Amino acid sequence: MMRKTLGLIGMVLLAQSSRPLEEFKTKAGVVKITPIRHASMMIEAGGKVIFVDPWSQGNFDGLPKADLILITDIHPDHLDQAAIDKVRKDGTMFIAPAAVAKTITSARVLANGQTTTWDQWAIEAVPMYNLKRGPTPGTFFHDKGRGNGYILNYGDTRFYIAGDTEGIPEMRALKNIDVAFVPMNLPYTMTPEEAADAVRAFHPKVVYPYHYRGSDTEAFKKALDGTGIDVRLRNWYY
Ligand SMILES: [Zn+2]
Repeated sequence: MMRKTLGLIGMVLLAQSSRPLEEFKTKAGVVKITPIRHASMMIEAGGKVIFVDPWSQGNFDGLPKADLILITDIHPDHLDQAAIDKVRKDGTMFIAPAAVAKTITSARVLANGQTTTWDQWAIEAVPMYNLKRGPTPGTFFHDKGRGNGYILNYGDTRFYIAGDTEGIPEMRALKNIDVAFVPMNLPYTMTPEEAADAVRAFHPKVVYPYHYRGSDTEAFKKALDGTGIDVRLRNWYY
């Protein structure tokens, strides 16, 4: 099947801080994404800086401060006050689900299915949850409705940050995702094979494993061989 021309390019470049970053051309301008660690990343576009789930195990030295911080969930690898304090400045805006806003009380609350705009971005909150995995039988690490994945729209380009989730029906049904960040780690989310199966269903143009500590990302890539999906393995744990 012929797919629409990408309209984006991804390249590994050297940032000022000598960190690898990913760059995408959109109709609204260039979007740069810097993997920091695990689920933490920095997104730069239009002169503004967004951090997603800043976590103290990441190195934030030399990075600019956040204009916007997106938080997905309440667990410490996503909601980390010390890391937030490192990257925030006066006027930093927060977008988060209600469970996170109990701690980050200034956050603009988005529930699953809600959308908002910020600067040139249109931001959609989407579900992230466990289908079967939890600390004890019948319970889940991530209850449906508590956390948010996000779809970030910039120009004509749609970036999907899945959050901590299994391959839920809502993920499988996503449309027109250009760039996806998908977790894979047990026991909290899913296996590389399960992640690949879900990714095959919604067929993003580009996919990055993230939040994958201890997982075989090569197995994920192999499982998507022949699909035409551009699987990009990067080091999120340096
Ligand atoms: Zn997590």
